[in-house]
Amino acid sequence: MGYHDELLGAWADYNAKKITPLQLKAVSSNFGIYQQKDDATMMRIRRTGGIVTLGDLETVAGLLAKYRVPYAHLTTRQAIQLHGVAAADVAACLADCEAAGLRFRGGGGNTFRNVLVNPNSGLHADTAFDVLPYARALSEAFYAFDAAYALPRKIKIAFADRAADRMLCAIQDLGFVAVEKEGRRCFETWLGGGIGNKPRVGFKLFEALPAEACIRVAMAVTALFHDHGDRACRATARLRFLRAKLGDEGLANLFQDYYAQADARGYPWCPEADLKPEAYPLSTLPEGETPAPGFEDWLAVACEPLADGTFAARLFVPFGNFTQAMLARFCAFLRKYGLTRLQLLISQDFVIPRVHRQCLAALYNALLREFPDFDLTLRSYVGHIPTCIGNTVCKIGAADSPRIGERLARVLDAWLPADTPQKRALARIVTTEVRISGCPNSCTAHPAAKFGFQCRKLGGQDVLIPFSPATAEPPTLGEPLAAPIAIDDLPHCLLANLGLL
Ligand code: SF4
Repeated sequence: MGYHDELLGAWADYNAKKITPLQLKAVSSNFGIYQQKDDATMMRIRRTGGIVTLGDLETVAGLLAKYRVPYAHLTTRQAIQLHGVAAADVAACLADCEAAGLRFRGGGGNTFRNVLVNPNSGLHADTAFDVLPYARALSEAFYAFDAAYALPRKIKIAFADRAADRMLCAIQDLGFVAVEKEGRRCFETWLGGGIGNKPRVGFKLFEALPAEACIRVAMAVTALFHDHGDRACRATARLRFLRAKLGDEGLANLFQDYYAQADARGYPWCPEADLKPEAYPLSTLPEGETPAPGFEDWLAVACEPLADGTFAARLFVPFGNFTQAMLARFCAFLRKYGLTRLQLLISQDFVIPRVHRQCLAALYNALLREFPDFDLTLRSYVGHIPTCIGNTVCKIGAADSPRIGERLARVLDAWLPADTPQKRALARIVTTEVRISGCPNSCTAHPAAKFGFQCRKLGGQDVLIPFSPATAEPPTLGEPLAAPIAIDDLPHCLLANLGLL
């Protein structure tokens, strides 16, 4: 029986009331398909590195309409979740997605999760090389690597094309940072990090691993985790706990034992010549429009200059959520302006790489004109402070983190950029460096943020545990500070930390 048959069989049994929700979860969670708190279903679609085409988004918009799904959510792991799918529609929705090349296997459960890639890989002035093709090749190889779907716990992998985004890789189970050594493509390789319970930065397994070996290394790490991870206790099952038990040297030695078997086990190489470079078509936005008021602020906060003279433009998606009607309008907008390739961000937004400087005013004007009711340009902070989905949807959450973010946003709106560089800096920080997680699982990676907060219940009240600021070099996580703060004190705490009060 194939893995899809097993999943579809479990759903049929569940719909026929032959198995319990718990028995269903044992099968469906490995596909990122979970029951929500309201007993509707959430389905998580993988997108390696968060790359989505216009066609992908049109498919998702079509599914929302066909199955009357309330909304799609952009996740902190560069994936797309369908929220509120009726149990009776899950099998058909799954089949439609798979037919369109939208995959689920490994979306959740004890599997290898969506592979992260930092934004605008290969396009920065300080890029070593584009890592997206490597992330894609690794994901493809792993779809057929059965050990990666029967692990003690999840395994998380990330790639970054430059040292400036090293932290993203240092907090994964396995991370690859592109570096060049003697003219060769290599990866500085980080092992054993993680940001949930007992968060840790990984240690450097290799200073400069030849890039073509990345899949073999990932498979060897996965195989050793499969064999040696703690299957008795879920709380200590992640790879970083095996690292704690063996020590860095012990884990590295164990890795070498597994890596030595790479040939015998048929782990593939990843030669550069086999990789397809990522291409971002330029938009058809008109040049030279007169910008609407607020353009300079938006340019400073939302647009990043790239090495080729173009810009990456961030579209701020309120709460990371699209209803069907809004996603259909968004797709029509993208089609109209030839914006056919986007990247999902861990801030639950989109970025459009490679927009010409002369076209940015037209993009800004069009966003304002065509979405007066959907704030894609940061007219307000509401919906634009990175939080996890929170306990109204997530069964393990301690608090409604999006609503906490919203309360903070309403106070911070008085500080929106209008005049000073200080306020523009605040806008960048608030939309990138503030993160609020609904529980210690840390889905926003708040210990790796400058201003991280974790929700907790204390005496029946929701409170926040502030974290000390993480630092990028060397990668160091923030620590929980001793005194929790009341939700209402969050704006004051943040502004005081930023020296604005
Ligand atoms: S951080 Fe906790 S509450 Fe938030 S989505 Fe993750 S598991 Fe759920």
